[in-house]
Amino acid sequence: MPELPEVQAHVERLSRPVDDGGFAGAVLGGFRPITFTALKTALPDPSEAVGRPLRTVDRRGKFLLLRFPSERAGDGAVTEEDPITFVVHLMQGGRLVPDESQSAKPRNGVARWSFDDGTALLLTEAGKERKAGVWVLAGDPLTQSPLSDLGIDADVVTRDQLATALDAKGTRLHTFLRDQHGIAGIGRMLANEICHRARLSPFAATNKLDGDQVDRLHAAIAGCIADALAFERGMERMSKSAERPGNVHHHKSDPCPTCGDTVRAVEYNAYEVDYCPTCQTGGKVLADNTTSKFLK
Ligand SMILES: [Zn+2]
Repeated sequence: MPELPEVQAHVERLSRPVDDGGFAGAVLGGFRPITFTALKTALPDPSEAVGRPLRTVDRRGKFLLLRFPSERAGDGAVTEEDPITFVVHLMQGGRLVPDESQSAKPRNGVARWSFDDGTALLLTEAGKERKAGVWVLAGDPLTQSPLSDLGIDADVVTRDQLATALDAKGTRLHTFLRDQHGIAGIGRMLANEICHRARLSPFAATNKLDGDQVDRLHAAIAGCIADALAFERGMERMSKSAERPGNVHHHKSDPCPTCGDTVRAVEYNAYEVDYCPTCQTGGKVLADNTTSKFLK
């Protein structure tokens, strides 16, 4: 699943001007949901944005925001008002890509934005989950669902904001990191890598971390995001999960790059928690069972 760094780098690619391979400034000609589940909102009608230029593409958590403000010229300046924003979530296998062929039935197609210059953007979703989707919002998108209940973005959260969120949740660290309401933007891979870099158990209780541990966690969040973003900015398109460099994520049975111990995993139906016992759990190997008393 794309996480904050992958979405951020992709937003930067899309934000380039039209003559530099991006979409900024392109005038919307039409929006078409291709699957029944693509459009998550009834109002406003997406056609309200037709005729407006795509002013910015930005990000909140793992969501992409395509902003189409109404522009009014006057007094020598252009004012932007009444924005229509398309909020896109890629979920597990979604991608938002330039649509070269613009076929009538695009493979894995979910929704399409067509622009007056003949270009188009296509939301695709591989697999059968059909969870990727688009919300069309009028006004300030940040104050509305699905963005309004997100926690602070993980790349800008301060140490004290993090401490407050950790204390308020009182859950296991790995769960906290993946939950978008404490802090936003982190998924399965970064959660594993952050816990490892911070030398903290993924099952540590968030409201029992001491000051030094919170310091390490805050530094690890910033460091892991910076490294992933630097990697992702070097790609011409969004990376696949298997391409992303990591120390423990999906490295079960490999040696830990930090200490040489064997990376272990606690496996769940949909994902696994990967960790190094020596670096993170005082050498303790956690039972592969969520109810185990050893999961501390
Ligand atoms: Zn280690």
